[in-house]
Amino acid sequence: MPELPEVETVRRGLASVMEGAQFTKVEAHRGDLRWPLPKDFVQRLEGQTVERLDRRAKYLIAHLSSDEVLIMHLGMSGSFRVARRRGMQTPGHYYHARPSHSLHDHVVFQMSSDAVISFNDPRRFGMMKLVRRADLEKESLLSALGPEPLGKAFNSIVLARLLKGKKTSLKAALSDQKIVAGLGNIYVCEALHRARLSPVWRASSVATRLGRPNERTRELVAAIKAVLRDAIAAGGSSLRNHRRTDGALGDFQHNFRVYDRAGKPCPRRGCGGIIKRIVQTGRSTFFCPVCQK
Ligand SMILES: [Zn+2]
Repeated sequence: MPELPEVETVRRGLASVMEGAQFTKVEAHRGDLRWPLPKDFVQRLEGQTVERLDRRAKYLIAHLSSDEVLIMHLGMSGSFRVARRRGMQTPGHYYHARPSHSLHDHVVFQMSSDAVISFNDPRRFGMMKLVRRADLEKESLLSALGPEPLGKAFNSIVLARLLKGKKTSLKAALSDQKIVAGLGNIYVCEALHRARLSPVWRASSVATRLGRPNERTRELVAAIKAVLRDAIAAGGSSLRNHRRTDGALGDFQHNFRVYDRAGKPCPRRGCGGIIKRIVQTGRSTFFCPVCQK
C-alpha cells in the first residue's frame, strides 16, 4: 500500500505534467472505484486547468480553474502512469497497446501538456472525488487527519500532547491517521528503529505524564521526519529513472532498515541484534529487540 513518500513521489511526477495544463479529454472506463465517480465527472473536468497539485497525507488534491478541487487517493493498489501522446503510433488509444494494464485503467486524462495520464487500480480501493474549493476545509476525508508529519505543525509538543495517557502500543498509535497523517506500517517500523524505540511500548511512554515532550518524543519526531525525507529523496531519483522507461510513478526500490527484514542482522553499527517480526493489531511489525528497548 502506498504511504506518504510514494504519494509525494506521485504528486511530483504528476505536477510536472498537470500543473498549468488543461484536461483536453477525460475517459472514465469504470465508474466504480471505492465509491462511484462523481456525477458528471467527465464534464466537470474537461476544459478545466489544473492550477496546483497539492498533497495532504495520502490524498492528492488538484485545484481546478472551475473552483472545484479533485481529490484522489491511490487506495491499496492504485497507480498513475504518464505517457506522451506525441510520437505514438495511435494517438489517444495508447492504452490499447498495453493490454497488461488496459484492463484496470479506470480513468484516463489527456492533458494539454501532451501527457496522457492513466489511473490503474486492480483492487479498486482508490477514489476520485470533486468538491468545491470553499468546502475543502470541512471535507470529511481530510478534516479528521492529524498533523502532516513533514510540516511545522508536527513537532514534539504536539506529539506529546497526542500520546499523553495513550494505552495502545507505540506502533498502533503512530499508525493512527488522527495522530500523524500518512504514516503506515512501513515507515512506522523504520522510524521506531531509527529512534531506538520499541514498537510494543505504551504510546504514553513517549511523553511525560502531563503530556509534555521528553527526550524520546524529540527523538521520535526527528526520526519520523528523517525517514520520510529519505524515502521521498529515493522516490525522486527513481522518478527520473522511471521517466526514461515506462512512465509509472511511485513504485521504487527501497532500502529498509527493519521492514521485511526478519532474521537479518540489525543495520545499526555495533548492535549485533537480529531483526524480529511480530504481529500487532493484525499487521506485521519488524524491529530489533536489542537496540529498540
Ligand atoms: Zn539493533
